[in-house]
Amino acid sequence: MNAVPQDLETQLFIDGDVRKATGGRTYDLFNPARPDEKVGQAAKATEEDVDAAVNAAHRAFPAWAALSFEERAAHLRRVAEVLVADADNVTARARLFCREHGKILRETELELSRLGERFLLCAGYADRLAVDERVSGDRFDTIITRQPRGVAALIVPWNWPLAILGSKLPQALMAGNTVVVKPSNSASLAPSLTLKLIAETLPPGVVNVVTGSAGEIGDALVGHKYVRFVNFTGSVGIGQHVMRVASGNTTPVTLELGGNDAALIMQDAKIDEDAFRRMYLGAFMSSGQVCMALKRMYVHRSRYDEVVEGFTAECQKQVIGDGLLPETTMGPVNNSKQLKVVTDLIAQSREAGFETIECGHVPDQELYSQGYFQRPTLVYNPDQDAPVVSEEQFGPVLPIMPFDDDETAIAMANDSQFGLCSSVWTEDPQRAVALSRRLEAGYTYLNAHGPMAQDGKGPFGGFKDSGIGRNLGYEGIIQFQGYHAISGPAGWLF
Ligand code: NAP
Repeated sequence: MNAVPQDLETQLFIDGDVRKATGGRTYDLFNPARPDEKVGQAAKATEEDVDAAVNAAHRAFPAWAALSFEERAAHLRRVAEVLVADADNVTARARLFCREHGKILRETELELSRLGERFLLCAGYADRLAVDERVSGDRFDTIITRQPRGVAALIVPWNWPLAILGSKLPQALMAGNTVVVKPSNSASLAPSLTLKLIAETLPPGVVNVVTGSAGEIGDALVGHKYVRFVNFTGSVGIGQHVMRVASGNTTPVTLELGGNDAALIMQDAKIDEDAFRRMYLGAFMSSGQVCMALKRMYVHRSRYDEVVEGFTAECQKQVIGDGLLPETTMGPVNNSKQLKVVTDLIAQSREAGFETIECGHVPDQELYSQGYFQRPTLVYNPDQDAPVVSEEQFGPVLPIMPFDDDETAIAMANDSQFGLCSSVWTEDPQRAVALSRRLEAGYTYLNAHGPMAQDGKGPFGGFKDSGIGRNLGYEGIIQFQGYHAISGPAGWLF
């Protein structure tokens, strides 16, 4: 097996070359299940490195943009092949990812495969992208075409770094942009190794990678004069900061920010073991650290006791521990800061007198007490304005509340600063769509919720504080292009 070395150090990738950071600085990554265990170290880029990366992308842009969509699609298909070419290498990266992130191995494998699938998905849009719109008028004929924007800065968070990369990197490339990618410093190693494979498969300068502290290099990247588009996924506060910095060059942004997704379980929902399993995955996959996780569960009062009982039983089945062990179904939270957010919400819920239960089985208590672990925790019937309901928990705690009628359910679901995703659970498809249309959300899942409930073909993003713009789908590609109208006298062009 092409095992990852114990003393792994990942580097920057700029202009087709692996490079150390200027000055040779690095930062360490630790295993959230065993916070004393160093997993490896990553290069800590400087502003000078960022400048080199953006300039490399800027130089590579004209030739990449000049390729046809089909030619770029062929490159993307080649990347998809390379990502799965060496099974031992894929396994080694999945295990490394598990150790630096904390999530269970099945999920790191899933993310790796999703990334490759999304390259293929984007390549499949080549024909549709190549078609210009033609508008004939009395005086003018106009071709409405779109052209790539230039260098795109792609900023990725730690929670689903590879799948999220798959929602913006192949799209940016397919549209004809070159890129500089900045992974999170809480999940850098497997993303860097994977990005290196991708970058090496493409012409030099098309994909450049800088790791490091965003506090040191974030503004240099977002505010660089050659960066023509910023696609950011992360928290609301940093997203707003990114937007302010980008405005200095009138650079457009897409912001995929937080969420506080509501699920509405209607009185006619089909509730069985399979449904409880889908609810569990929706709420607690990756220890609940998913932007589109089910974060508030509202249940029609006539089904409330049944759902509470069945969902609690599903949560009690879970095994919490080291994500590398095959029996583990929930790993630790990624970092101590995020763990504190979750444990504070649980403590506040208890102090407020809401019934709160920690579920699941912990085979290794010593490990649990050392790592950033929190068992899946349910808070029954908290107030709508309790922090566990109104704030994004981004971790393994879920409030469950009853509602009496459709109007109340819709009002409670929409009563949020966020508007990312939502779900409606009912046996009636027409009712499902009618209720969905009234939800303030960029995506509504039916009888499911979260990453397992979407295939990447629909545009993904949010309203309100959940962000601006859409990744994934056809729309996720054309965001990386700007419109260009070409107009001549009527009858002269076509
Ligand atoms: P974060 O702290 O906002 O960081 C996100 C990314 O931005 C990281 O790569 C971070 O780098 C970088 N960054 C930080 N400051 C920056 C700056 N000044 N300029 C440029 N980049 C900067 O978010 P997070 O804690 O990693 O992720 C959790 C949040 O992301 C949650 O709120 C979650 O809901 C949201 N999220 C949203 C989606 C979505 O699609 N809507 C998906 C996933 C996550 P460093 O790591 O080096 O600080």
